[in-house]
Amino acid sequence: MEPFNKLAIIGLGLIGSSIAHAARRGKLAKQIVGHDASADVLKRARAVGFADALEFDIGAAVADADLVILCVPVGAMKAAAAALAPHLAKGAILSDVGGVKGSVVSDIGPLVPKGVHFIPAHPIAGTEFSGPEAGFATLFDGRWSIITPPPGADAGAVARLKEFWQGLGSQVELMDPAHHDLVLAITSHLPHLIAYNIVGTAHDLEAVTEGEVIKYSAGGFRDFTRIAASDPTMWRDVFLNNRQAVLEVLGRFNEDLSILTRAVRNGDGKLLFDFFTRTRAIRKAIIEQGQDSAAPNFGRK
Ligand code: NAP
Repeated sequence: MEPFNKLAIIGLGLIGSSIAHAARRGKLAKQIVGHDASADVLKRARAVGFADALEFDIGAAVADADLVILCVPVGAMKAAAAALAPHLAKGAILSDVGGVKGSVVSDIGPLVPKGVHFIPAHPIAGTEFSGPEAGFATLFDGRWSIITPPPGADAGAVARLKEFWQGLGSQVELMDPAHHDLVLAITSHLPHLIAYNIVGTAHDLEAVTEGEVIKYSAGGFRDFTRIAASDPTMWRDVFLNNRQAVLEVLGRFNEDLSILTRAVRNGDGKLLFDFFTRTRAIRKAIIEQGQDSAAPNFGRK
């Protein structure tokens, strides 16, 4: 693809730094400029060295950029967009990576100056780590990124952003923001809520088990603790901003859990076996589509 002249990345945590690494790998921008609200993050980003320039001034970071990507927590999107909007160049693409799309569209949309193309996106790729040291160039390889263009979005700008995400290693799908939020509520947001909950419950039981939950933690519990170690700010903001879709899937989840509870109480082995067989097939399909490793214990030792 034709590289962007200046890529400005706002927020230099896991996702922002990974975009910088992958954009450099793919030669997707002639210049990569980073900004973060935290002087400490900027200092650490400088030490890692994934950007050509780092700016504490958000206006200077986005000036003359033809692609600006907001990589801050969903709850910080509005303030960051308000601060940078007056400095955006005409014809620039303004995008983001937020895990919720409906709230980002309503928070940022009204702030976008005329002549700037606002095209939200969300890479379905991440780890439980945060900060500028956490990023790596291969994070998006083979994973899906969802672009949610607003009605009437410029087709050329959408195509440019699609090309960019493909250059970062992603497969790209276009989606309506509300549909994105419902899909992610079940595939990402609810699993995180369940993980936070089960680890919290186990921690409360520590008083009873005197350390045994951690000492003898079996694979199932350990996998939940990995997810429950995810960034508290990011996940607080996801639940504050995707409330409706999360409550909808949580209602379904509670109904299904009641069915399993009753099956356990009644010793209904057939129901349990059939249920677990169906879910095992889903795991198989995810591996067949290249979205996870088939190695035992995810390849961990
Ligand atoms: P992260 O590692 O915590 O990085 C976010 C960075 O943004 C931090 O350095 C933070 O600084 C900075 N920041 C906060 N408010 C800011 C502001 N107003 N202006 C400039 N910088 C600001 O988080 P992340 O995991 O990269 O997540 C960033 C975004 O990516 C979120 O919207 C999230 O929904 C989305 N996302 C995350 C994942 C994932 O798995 N992590 C996957 C896909 C998409 P401080 O630390 O000093 O606050």
